[in-house]
Amino acid sequence: MRITVLAGGIGGAKFLQGVRHWATTGGRADEVTAIVNTGDDVTMHGLRICPDLDSVMYTLAGAADQERGWGRAEESWRIKDELAVYGAEPTWFGLGDLDIATHLVRTQMLAAGYPLSDVTAALLQRWHTGVRLLPMTDDRCETHVVVELDGARKAIHFQEWWVRYRAKLPALAFVQVGLDTAVAGAGVLESLDEADLILIAPSNPVVSVDTILNVAGIREAVQNASAPVVGLSPIIGTAPVRGMADSCLPAIGVETSAEGVGRHYGARSSGGVLDAWLVHTGDTAEIDGVTVLARQLLMSDDDVTAGMVADAVRVAGL
Ligand code: GDP
Ligand code: CA
Repeated sequence: MRITVLAGGIGGAKFLQGVRHWATTGGRADEVTAIVNTGDDVTMHGLRICPDLDSVMYTLAGAADQERGWGRAEESWRIKDELAVYGAEPTWFGLGDLDIATHLVRTQMLAAGYPLSDVTAALLQRWHTGVRLLPMTDDRCETHVVVELDGARKAIHFQEWWVRYRAKLPALAFVQVGLDTAVAGAGVLESLDEADLILIAPSNPVVSVDTILNVAGIREAVQNASAPVVGLSPIIGTAPVRGMADSCLPAIGVETSAEGVGRHYGARSSGGVLDAWLVHTGDTAEIDGVTVLARQLLMSDDDVTAGMVADAVRVAGL
């Protein structure tokens, strides 16, 4: 079975660990592909940074810092400190020394003309993830957030909103700069077309999943795929499990609940992207045309997450 997963950073990475665990402990997966959000990508200090791709890559390779939740384990910060002494902005974005090596390799390859998909494949020759990682697009398409700042309406980069302002400035809208010309990355449409099962990870619905689906061709490919599509709710009760996704949903008028997000994704039979929707035990959702199943959705360890994947496979009838 070929499984294709739409994934953001940390939620996506944990879920993919579970998919891989399921596949290596008796699950019937020949190939697991993740289509990863690149809307968070940003250039800082001249370096091209892909936070979600890196979170997924480091996590699957066992090289991520578990406590901090992003970046490399056993990281040091000498370059960051030195940049601060120079007064080099921005100082609010942490770049660790080990992490910088990744960004240097990536930036150099991009400057030499390789598309991000090739660069990602090259990085994966070092990091053995067991999952094929595809950037949602090879084009530059960066999420900006419209906020009120200093008495004026401004669009700031998603990273500035998320990291510098901790998502505390109310988001008035999300805008993907470059979306009008961006096309699906190399291999993305094929992986949806050829999949036997499509999973939507419990990732941020607004700035991870929608961001991917909005890229030209991707939503249509999910809608038209012959594979069943199963989503897993990132919201348990009335809050995201970790992180600040509840600062995003109000901006698009979606209630912070499993039902709210499930209805927002909608049934494939009526123009949406879901056939089935997994919500956490005790949560409920009624979505026309979508099979809803309540299951344990807390990704506390790989066994539990693999169990979620097994449930998704079962509800897909595979
Ligand atoms: P980011 O790009 O690093 O923000 O990560 P993602 O977009 O992939 O995932 C963020 C989402 O993961 C948040 O909205 C969380 O609610 C969700 N999440 C994190 N851990 C869990 C978990 O254990 N279970 C579920 N269901 N969702 C989770
Ligand atoms: Ca992200």
